Amino acid sequence: MADVPHELSAQIGDGGEDATGDDVALDPGEPQFDLVEPGRVSRREVQPDTIKRRAMGKMRAVQVAQGGGALELVEREMPEPTQGEVRVRVEACGVCHSDSLTVEGQWPGLSFPRIPGHEIAGIIDAVGTGVVGWSVGQRVGVGWFGGHCGRCEPCRRGWLIDCRNLRIPGISYDGGYADAMVAPADALAAIPDQLSAVDAAPLLCAGVTTFNALRHSGAMPGDVVAVLGIGGLGHLGVQFANKLGFCTVAIARGSDKEALSRNLGAHHFIDSATEDVAARLNRLGGARAVLATVTSAKAMTPVIEGLAVRGRLIVVGVDAEPIEVSPLQLIGASRSVVGHAAGASIDSQDTLGFSALSGVRPMIETMPLSRAPEAYARMMRAEARFRMVLTMAEQH
Ligand SMILES: [Zn+2]
Ligand SMILES: [Zn+2]
Repeated sequence: MADVPHELSAQIGDGGEDATGDDVALDPGEPQFDLVEPGRVSRREVQPDTIKRRAMGKMRAVQVAQGGGALELVEREMPEPTQGEVRVRVEACGVCHSDSLTVEGQWPGLSFPRIPGHEIAGIIDAVGTGVVGWSVGQRVGVGWFGGHCGRCEPCRRGWLIDCRNLRIPGISYDGGYADAMVAPADALAAIPDQLSAVDAAPLLCAGVTTFNALRHSGAMPGDVVAVLGIGGLGHLGVQFANKLGFCTVAIARGSDKEALSRNLGAHHFIDSATEDVAARLNRLGGARAVLATVTSAKAMTPVIEGLAVRGRLIVVGVDAEPIEVSPLQLIGASRSVVGHAAGASIDSQDTLGFSALSGVRPMIETMPLSRAPEAYARMMRAEARFRMVLTMAEQH
């Protein structure tokens, strides 16, 4: 585990320019982002009390008893998969800012108690009836996309992530803060052998969000692509942009993020605290795409003037405030501002495959499941560098 200073200030959600990462000692040129030894989780011994609990059909889970309540470690009945579902023995689960929707009870229609967690990596250990193509022993992940209805208009058009009845683990049904969880088979992504569970977990939400947005950005190899905010999302976005062959620009507040950004693969760094971001982007020829991972609409507004002709501002950082843009800014250069949701399970699988292929890895801090409240609090204080990941092995 990294020794982490506590100077971070702002709450930034999935990503954000306030999540600093400047003083992590990285060795340039290496796939150095693996703060946890790959495969460490799967090599751990199963503890005797775990075996006993399983024999009794029980599991550990961290649940929220009611909206706004505390996360609590409880013993639950082991869930059984029904038709079209599999049970996943969870090895690792990332802690995402969107888990606060469950903890705070902010998602409409949530029922309690609920187990949060939608960055789930594990192994199938039971298969329900009618499941084709998935079997016991297979390594799988489940992300924000937790199943689609197949009947609504977006589903019928093939836009599964836009399903009007989208199911989300940890919200629509119990998620990954547990020894096991049950998911519909259409929510599964296969995990390649080269990726450990702890590395795969954050790629199932933060990873697919950035990778999928960048690969559909319309930018071609060599084009200028900027990532606004170097946090949970942005530190992956910079790596993906570099590996996709873009001229990669990192934009963050404060020059202290420059070294980290360059180690992650940024060819250029813009300090938004001291520089005119749009002017710098224009000197580089203008950005074909800017991936906005900051959770501040105000921080997104200044980059619009730095978009090239037909350039796109791709919004993945969440904020309720408006982004300010004039029709003139958009029309004159055929620019656009677009939102982008994470991706369906096949997009997650592509993200995992591309990461295995290219060496993209999340920077993570791990904690055992029993310390989930602490991991969650650390994430909410924006102190995680850059993703907290819960591991289900009991000793840590
Ligand atoms: Zn998430
Ligand atoms: Zn649907």
